[in-house]
Amino acid sequence: MAMKQEIFIGPVGIGGSHPVSVQSMTSVPLADVAATLRQIQALQTAGCDIVRVAILDRDSLPYFGQVIARSVLPVVADIHFDAVLALEAIGLGAQGIRINPGNIGSPDKVKDILRLANEREIPIRIGVNSGSIEKKYGHGTASRAGAMVSSVMDKVKFFEDNGFFRIKISLKSPDVPETVHAYRLIAGQCNYPLHLGITEAGTRFSGTIKSAIGIGGLLLDGIGNTIRVSLTADPLEEVRVGREILRVLGLMPGGIELISCPTCGRTSVDLIPLVEEVEKRLNAFKTRKKLQVAVMGCEVNGPGEARQADIGLAFSRNKGYIFRKGHLIEKIAPAEAVDRLIEIVGELCRDEAGKIT
Ligand code: SF4
Repeated sequence: MAMKQEIFIGPVGIGGSHPVSVQSMTSVPLADVAATLRQIQALQTAGCDIVRVAILDRDSLPYFGQVIARSVLPVVADIHFDAVLALEAIGLGAQGIRINPGNIGSPDKVKDILRLANEREIPIRIGVNSGSIEKKYGHGTASRAGAMVSSVMDKVKFFEDNGFFRIKISLKSPDVPETVHAYRLIAGQCNYPLHLGITEAGTRFSGTIKSAIGIGGLLLDGIGNTIRVSLTADPLEEVRVGREILRVLGLMPGGIELISCPTCGRTSVDLIPLVEEVEKRLNAFKTRKKLQVAVMGCEVNGPGEARQADIGLAFSRNKGYIFRKGHLIEKIAPAEAVDRLIEIVGELCRDEAGKIT
């Protein structure tokens, strides 16, 4: 896939040779500025690169100004229906905006937004959702992906005709094959960076599966420059899932991969809660190192898999065996095994000053 044009949301590069970034949205009321800022901080800690904030009305603008002034992440203003909100948000320092030009008002209003965004050198995401395609592009299920692409390409042309080129595109649908089809179509038609997502994907369980298939499949094709996993869940979950999709695809410079067996009749300890605890505690390591940690349930396949990982833990007849790069380094009681495993991972991730690197 040809390299996409580069844009910047604050310091975060999208497209060009930049790594795929992860986005999420705040979910607390914008009027609660302190809670919004706390959520942004937590999102950053979880690995979020860019945060989007919805501005619902003009009364919310002062709160948006306060958030922008103190946010630890670059902020994209998400705006529908009111061009004035977009203009004011840009004036307040939004580092990007997301609009659906189909519902923002007359072409003149869109032109005003393009002019100001050009002046401030910020990008605009043209976000078209399958549910909001204008009638003229058609709504038939068979052609909905094509309709989304036609709709977005018309808007791209309008932006270009008005001298605006800092464009990012999204074409979202809750239907995975349709979304994948639409992105594949548009990837071949223009050179603007693509923001991937499966909209209204669902709960943590079903939404994670849909997003992993849809976003992951496109990324495997080399399509996509920034992602947002949409879940009916805490936005921190969105970031965790987004990061995991990138890590699994080898698109992240580091991170810890947990390998664990599915358990079977041979499992000699209560492995499921034990592995869940390991996963939870490994998630706390925001390391740039690439590590593979294995936790296995028995002496048949366990030691073999555990040996291949950077750090492995395998159980056999109520004894835990810890391996480091293929060598048995410790035998330990199962009750102490998780603490010891996490301690060793911590040692590997810390520099001499004790800081996670
Ligand atoms: Fe079963 Fe052992 Fe394989 Fe785990 S590693 S699934 S306990 S055979």
